[in-house]
Amino acid sequence: MTVPIRTHSPYPMLTVAEATHEILSRLEPLAPVTLDFRDAAGYVLAEDVTSDCDLPPARRSGVDGYAVVARPGPLRLRVLQELTAGQAADVQVGPDTAVRIMTGGLLPPGADAVVMFEDTREQDGYVEIRAAPRIGDHVQAPGLDAKRDQVVLRAGLRLGSPEIGMLAAVGHTRVQVHPRPRVAVLATGDEVVEPDAEPPVGCVRDSNRYAQITAVHEAGGQVVWSGHCPDDPVELRRVVSEAIGSADVLITSGGVSMGTRDLLKPLLAELGEIHFGRVSFKPGKPLTFATIGTTTVFGLPGFPVSSLVTFEVFVRPALRRLQGFRRLHRPRVTVELEHPIHPSRNRLEYQRAVVRSQYGRLAATATGRQSSSRLLNMVGANGLLEIPSGDELLPAGSRVTALLTGEILDAVDLDDATGQ
Ligand code: AMP
Ligand code: MG
Repeated sequence: MTVPIRTHSPYPMLTVAEATHEILSRLEPLAPVTLDFRDAAGYVLAEDVTSDCDLPPARRSGVDGYAVVARPGPLRLRVLQELTAGQAADVQVGPDTAVRIMTGGLLPPGADAVVMFEDTREQDGYVEIRAAPRIGDHVQAPGLDAKRDQVVLRAGLRLGSPEIGMLAAVGHTRVQVHPRPRVAVLATGDEVVEPDAEPPVGCVRDSNRYAQITAVHEAGGQVVWSGHCPDDPVELRRVVSEAIGSADVLITSGGVSMGTRDLLKPLLAELGEIHFGRVSFKPGKPLTFATIGTTTVFGLPGFPVSSLVTFEVFVRPALRRLQGFRRLHRPRVTVELEHPIHPSRNRLEYQRAVVRSQYGRLAATATGRQSSSRLLNMVGANGLLEIPSGDELLPAGSRVTALLTGEILDAVDLDDATGQ
């Protein structure tokens, strides 16, 4: 069974900005869960975290040396005792005495400066100090690094290594985070076969499913289901119903264009609500956004580049919204084209490119033929150039906006990155 041939899509054409707004305005961060901080790396904080103490908690030495009373030198002081980190002094330091103190040691009463070992010489119970210490030298005041009740981590922050360390430092061991969105990934198409298979004539290996699974992981989601379905309406209905069962988000590829085997839009309209079915940009015009029950559905186009670019521009920000990120979009930077580019006549186009830093500016080189079937033009790319529609050639040196999708390269990395 097929759908009838149509020459006009019934779906209005949205701009990229309108489509983005439509998606993001329908999504909220997932309800927070509590995790042990040791398991929370990579999650996004759902609460502000305050310090339960001053850091450091008391006046302490920042170096290995001698705790003294600051006064003009040179000095010769009697050494009363040694203090290591964690010990409290049981002596008072006066103008003629000193305490040998290790980094992190609590400053003994009376002392107001520390002189580092390198500036001293100790002999027969006395220490000689050449340069005059000043009040506060190498002394860390309580709360110098963070004050008690100070907010040290804000909601919306992704927990990386410094943040996990901070949670430990302030004793915030049970932490509220937004869960990772549960995502189902479905590839559609009669012609699509498993990567292990030798594709019969006219068939292609399923690259979308595996590229999308990886993209979901990279965007912080967890894949709870994945599969493939032929272009059969009964089977598609069954598989989509199964896929959404356990998922916050369903991502499909293929079956959303104007062909007679493009069955997905009618099915989504039947099972739920389609919010839009066309976006004015290249590659990926037939991108479809729908809701079935509580599951958000992205119907991505079938061509590998179209599906990954639409993921990047629309799905990734959505997955980040569900995770509670404050920053949803990739950084946008201005780059200089290394070569002329032909804009698309009537649509904004995202061209895949390598962006590198060169003499204080960012230079961009598109990755060869920009066909939406040619996955190779995404391999090694770290940017999407936003090329506005137009009839005029953009000459080399033109400045355009780029979405940075990966690390900026150095000038010397160029040959590696575009070895195609
Ligand atoms: P469709 O949008 O379903 O008409 O698909 C357009 C084209 O994308 C197909 O002719 C295939 O060449 C390609 N395609 C669709 N699905 C996949 C997939 N899962 N992996 C690789 N290529 C695909
Ligand atoms: Mg298809």
